[in-house]
Amino acid sequence: MRVVFVISLLLLLGACGSNEPQNPPSASAGFIDLSAWDFSQNDPLELSGEWEFYWSQLLSPQQIAQQRPDFQLQEVPARWTSYDDQLAVEGYATYRLRVQLPADSEVYGLFLDGQGSSFTLWANSEVIAEDGEVGTELSGNVRRGQPQLVFFQPDDSLVELVMQISNFSHRSAGFRNALIIGSADSIHALERNTSLFQSTYLGLLLAIALYHYFLFSQRTEDSFPFHFANLALLVAIRIGFTGNNVLVSALPFLSWEIALRIEYFTFFLITPIFAAMMRSIYPRDVHRWFLLATIAVAVAYSVFTVLTSTLTATYTVPSYQLVILAEMAYFVYVLVRIFAKKRDGRFYFGIATIIGLMGLVSEILFSRGFVSYGEVAPIGIVGFVMVQAIYLAARFSSTFRKVEELSVLLERNNENLQESETKYRTIFEDSKDMIYIADLSGRVEDISPSCKEIFGYTRDEVIRNQINLNEIASKEDRSMFSSLMTEFNSVEDFEFDLPHKDGHKVRVAMNASTRVDTNGRITGILGTVRDITDKLQAREQRLRAERAETIASTDALTNAYTRRYLNEVTQREMARSNRNSTPLTLVILDIDHFKQINDTHGHLAGDKVLVQLSQVCRDNIRSTDVFSRYGGEEFIILMPETSLELGQQKTEVLRKLISDQPLIEFNGREIPVSFSAGVTAWETGESLESLIARADKALYQAKKSGRNQTCIGTD
Ligand code: GH3
Ligand code: MG
Ligand code: MG
Repeated sequence: MRVVFVISLLLLLGACGSNEPQNPPSASAGFIDLSAWDFSQNDPLELSGEWEFYWSQLLSPQQIAQQRPDFQLQEVPARWTSYDDQLAVEGYATYRLRVQLPADSEVYGLFLDGQGSSFTLWANSEVIAEDGEVGTELSGNVRRGQPQLVFFQPDDSLVELVMQISNFSHRSAGFRNALIIGSADSIHALERNTSLFQSTYLGLLLAIALYHYFLFSQRTEDSFPFHFANLALLVAIRIGFTGNNVLVSALPFLSWEIALRIEYFTFFLITPIFAAMMRSIYPRDVHRWFLLATIAVAVAYSVFTVLTSTLTATYTVPSYQLVILAEMAYFVYVLVRIFAKKRDGRFYFGIATIIGLMGLVSEILFSRGFVSYGEVAPIGIVGFVMVQAIYLAARFSSTFRKVEELSVLLERNNENLQESETKYRTIFEDSKDMIYIADLSGRVEDISPSCKEIFGYTRDEVIRNQINLNEIASKEDRSMFSSLMTEFNSVEDFEFDLPHKDGHKVRVAMNASTRVDTNGRITGILGTVRDITDKLQAREQRLRAERAETIASTDALTNAYTRRYLNEVTQREMARSNRNSTPLTLVILDIDHFKQINDTHGHLAGDKVLVQLSQVCRDNIRSTDVFSRYGGEEFIILMPETSLELGQQKTEVLRKLISDQPLIEFNGREIPVSFSAGVTAWETGESLESLIARADKALYQAKKSGRNQTCIGTD
């Protein structure tokens, strides 16, 4: 949409510039017949075609009439150097044309564009226009180079125009711009329109330049508006110094020599300013060396122009045109590059640059004489500036949009932040644990209100008194804490006694870690403290209960399990055996003639026998087997997942271990000990009593059979 707008704008501008006459007659053999030309209906027309040409002669109309010198017929407008290679740039000549006007006499207007050379123009023996002083050498060659309007009313319908031209100051010598003739009104209009057209451009560009200088002054970080303003200003000046020379007319104190040089500066500086602007938007795509080289060349040309004569200065233009063409190749390369890299604003910049480059090319072609219409160049450059201005506006509004979006985002973030702040505040305020933030030394900076419940101080007291949680702990706790912190940067469930405000100690567990800022520097400590007094009490109770249970389940003398414990385990094992269909074997053993041991060696020796026998048995059964004291010198071993045969074998191993070597020595005397045992297997569904009764029966059998043996109870 925007592109369509830009293109139609350019077409409009282009349409304003074209104003060519239709089917105009042209001069032939030094004569042009305009008797049938309707000046009131037609646009002004150029007096172009074959003029009489008198080389190296400055002839007045009278001299021509009297002397009738030889002449050539040459094409006008053209440089005389194009007629013949022999004709020097520095020289002079006279041109003559006879014009047959319509019969009715009226006021005619002539529009004379600057010729770049001095001239004097006669119409019917009367000087009607001049520029500078026509002469045969440089000294008299002072000119303004301004376009002129001349009005005349001929007495006769046949008008003789004589034009003397002398050139010592410009590379392009001769009758370069055709005289334009028309009715007084149409010539007026022509001059007015061109001036209006150029003044409008000029004003527009100056406004654009000022506006962008202002933008730049508001925000100097972005240098694009600055370069852009420079470019607009440069183009404005250039327009003012070319064509109708709107600015030159406005500044009459400027001599032609200075005006020419200013015009050239604008020509030299256009590419460096453009390159600087391009680099300000696409810094990665325009090389620095290119910018510097462009500036260096432009400055060198400008300096040279100042130091030499205008004639020499005008010779710089063709070579600088080649420089521009080379620089254009580089700009095209940059364009391709910004499209390939999909840079922002490439479409605007691409269109603008192509329009601008086309304008420059056409200006160069015009100055070389390849095309006839030179007004395209300022249109191209103005078009370029307009598109860029639109792009800049688009860029500004998109930046503004972005700012708006960002501020909405920022607001939303703020809300989220506030929400999460409230959330964390609530956690902090309501936490039963004490949450604190401390500096590196441990001095509390903030603490949750639960500190009052935990160690008696209110939040205000903690902060006001600069309480240091580490310092109020005991010396050992303190050093332990700091060494853990140093090594791991954190502590977990670190238990210590925190002195309560009223003096007693509160057992607490602390979790703490170092706080780190965005640069990774440690700034303090963040931690939680939990009162674990209750937990501690619960733990102690559990330990006591466990201890009591152990006491109840083991025999104090032999450390064998008690009968009560055996009952419990047997119930469980019976159920498991039933579930898994695994065998369960029970052994009952009774020390032989124990009464006699007591009697012989004393009760203490008896006790020692009991302890020692228990130890040997326990050491030689599996961990899953349960060894218990059934009473006096009788023991029961419960063997889960053990068959009757295996149970008997294991009992035999134990029996031999006990009886084969002296179990104890007492008062220097060895006391031989043996036992008798009854082994039996549990039958599914059978009670413990019945199981023990069968084992007991087998034991009785063993005693009866001579002791120190194992019998199996099967029924
Ligand atoms: P048998 O071979 O028939 O079993 O003869 P025995 O002497 O071992 O049998 P009896 O049941 O007659 O004697 C058991 C003795 O064990 C009686 C009791 O004084 C003694 N006794 C029971 N408990 C302990 C104890 O804890 N320490 C000591 N030293 N003796 C105990
Ligand atoms: Mg006994
Ligand atoms: Mg006994």
